[in-house]
Amino acid sequence: MRACVLTATGGTDHLRITDVPDAPTPQAGEVRVAIRAAALNHLDLWVMEGLPGATRFPHIVGADGAGVVESIGPGVTTVREGDRVMINPGISDYTCEFCQAGEHSLCVNYQLLGEHLPGTVAELATVPVQNVARIPVLLPVLGFAEAAAFSLVTLTAWRMVVTRAQLKKDETVLIWGIGGGVSLTALRIATLIGARAIVTSSSDAKLAAAKELGADVTFNHRTQEVAKEVRALTRKRGVDVVVDDVGAATWDDSLRCLRRGGRLVTCGATSGPHVSLDLRRLFWHHWTILGSTMGNAAEYAEVVRRLGQGELRSTVDRVFQLERTRDAFERLGKGEQLGKVVVEI
Ligand SMILES: [Zn+2]
Repeated sequence: MRACVLTATGGTDHLRITDVPDAPTPQAGEVRVAIRAAALNHLDLWVMEGLPGATRFPHIVGADGAGVVESIGPGVTTVREGDRVMINPGISDYTCEFCQAGEHSLCVNYQLLGEHLPGTVAELATVPVQNVARIPVLLPVLGFAEAAAFSLVTLTAWRMVVTRAQLKKDETVLIWGIGGGVSLTALRIATLIGARAIVTSSSDAKLAAAKELGADVTFNHRTQEVAKEVRALTRKRGVDVVVDDVGAATWDDSLRCLRRGGRLVTCGATSGPHVSLDLRRLFWHHWTILGSTMGNAAEYAEVVRRLGQGELRSTVDRVFQLERTRDAFERLGKGEQLGKVVVEI
């Protein structure tokens, strides 16, 4: 099968479009999906730079994918050959203590497609049947590109905003860096809840687009001092919730923006993973700092249900052909996108 593989760590120079052995024939409880579109994530860029833990080369990149069920393993009853499906890239063992408690993204053997396992930028991918969901029928039609763009960021943003931070109607949330898929989805969810959303970007064009998507207030974090502006806007009170997947570059300002008793939720560290924390401020202000990664099966079912109601549609930035996957990654790496960058297979 054709696939986009990484031949070594060290960036997009090591990406190749090549023939590799087909994804394995599905075993009991597995399905093989003929991928029609794969969406890129920042995770893929980390994998290219070399995450801790051995990756075997050539390594097929990509976590998000959508396509058609090509074949099914024994015992699979919930989907059939020919079904249009999208893939939840978080693969659990479905047996450990946390899986049994329904918390699949806490699985002790949690693995992600494209990171620990072969990815989705390929003609075929084999996954547990629990990791596929039928693409809802919607108008305007939900195509493979949009379906591929859905799973990782929507699941991540839903768990962050709804399950972990428990953002409520009429509360105020600050969301950093609105171009990225998680941030954009967090904005959509905040709007759905009826919360007031403050968003930031370094691009005025992206801020204008965010306003169209329901942002109440926008700040350009390149030209404005976000913490000062947020404190002025909230009359020094601060916001109820901060959604921060930027990390080192925004951490101090995130805390400056947080009200007494506020919640900060993080799922990423695109600008660096190490931050400082003055414990006296943490306890004095009764802050809650929440980590979050991906989501469990119930949360995935819920976001798919919401998608079926037309409430959580993805924003596709641009679609590239497989042969141009490197250009797609370069767009993502430069942060030029608004929404998801997708590769058609
Ligand atoms: Zn488990």
